[in-house]
Amino acid sequence: MSVLRMPRAVYDALRVHGEETYPHECCGALLGEPTAQGWRVATAARAGNTRTDSAHNRYQIAPVELVKIEREARRQGLEIAGFYHSHPDHPALWSATDFAEAHWLGCCYVITEVAQGKAAVTNSFLLAGATEEDKRFEPQTIQVEEARTESRPA
Ligand SMILES: [Zn+2]
Repeated sequence: MSVLRMPRAVYDALRVHGEETYPHECCGALLGEPTAQGWRVATAARAGNTRTDSAHNRYQIAPVELVKIEREARRQGLEIAGFYHSHPDHPALWSATDFAEAHWLGCCYVITEVAQGKAAVTNSFLLAGATEEDKRFEPQTIQVEEARTESRPA
């Protein structure tokens, strides 16, 4: 199983984001750098959920906002490593809609279950595959780096 590494502060922040927007979904982007062991997330960028038709079970980042996030990532020497969103009162497993709307091959999709307003299970899925036609979600391990041992890879 592949590994997604992220600092404790980022992990906590995306879970808190889901609690704040409950009972609606939250969403955002994960910025990081590719390593031989997979993505290492450095920071997360919150995004407004533009889905107003069904904000409790759909999410979408506006293209103009994504462009802004990408520009900010580049400024910091980072890349978009993936995306995160919450599932209010639903398990932290990807839905058919999540899969259909996932197009960033090689990126990570993090989902946090928010049960009764409290962040519960958080899972990550790597969007594997070489083309849109054979893309697939592969579960991966989230390795949370505690502040004391946090260091940038050489
Ligand atoms: Zn979802």
